[in-house]
Parts: sequence; structure tokens; C-alpha cells
Amino acid sequence: MADVDREIAALKAEVRRLQATIDEELPAIRASLSQPRATMRALLECPHCGGRRVLEAEKVADRTDAGDVPLAVASKGFWVRKPVGALSCWICASCGFAEWYVISPEQLEVDGQTIAEHTIDDADQGPYR
Ligand SMILES: [Zn+2]
Repeated sequence: MADVDREIAALKAEVRRLQATIDEELPAIRASLSQPRATMRALLECPHCGGRRVLEAEKVADRTDAGDVPLAVASKGFWVRKPVGALSCWICASCGFAEWYVISPEQLEVDGQTIAEHTIDDADQGPYR
């Protein structure tokens, strides 16, 4: 019986220790939940299903009559159009959720037709606009 009492006492102490850890960590966990969501590419974990097997398609082929070209958001050139803003894709192997990335976003030119730019003016977030 004494062994059982010692085991119960040890378990109660462990529960108190775990509760103290939760109480200590909870504010930081709550604060992190209000932060922007990290990407699957950064986490290597699916934000939708929690899957931890993530596939990367470094370049995605766009199959044309002339053959495969990189799938891109725009093209450039007068005689021969070349893809600009080629895409890569990160895919959750469990649920199929996909994140697309432009490999070299600095190559994109804002022309107002194919590519438009939208920004948020942080200085203009007050209630009186
Ligand atoms: Zn998933």
C-alpha cells in the first residue's frame, strides 16, 4: 500500500509541475496564435491537416504544343515570349493543400494589366480616415 501512496504522491507532484508549465507557457502560446500564420514551406508542416510530409515541385511545367515551359504568371518578349515569374509549388502529401511561390518575384514588372500592385498603408489604419 505504501508503494501505491508514493506513486500517487509522485503523480500528483508531476501533475502540479505540468500545470505550472502550462500556466507559464500559455501567455506565449496565445500571443503566437495572433501572429501571421507561418508558411508550409517554412514549417514543413501542413497548416490545414498537420501533415508532416511536404513535397516541393521546384519548377512546375506548363505543357504547350511547343513543349514544356515553366508555368509562370506572365511572359515577356516580342518575337519569342518567355515566361516571367516562374512558379514553384509546395504540396502537403496528406491532404493535397498547395502553396504557390514565384521563384524570382523581383523579375515581375507592375504593368497594371498582367501584374497589378496592392499595398496596405499602415499609417492609414485609424478609425478616422
Ligand atoms: Zn495537409
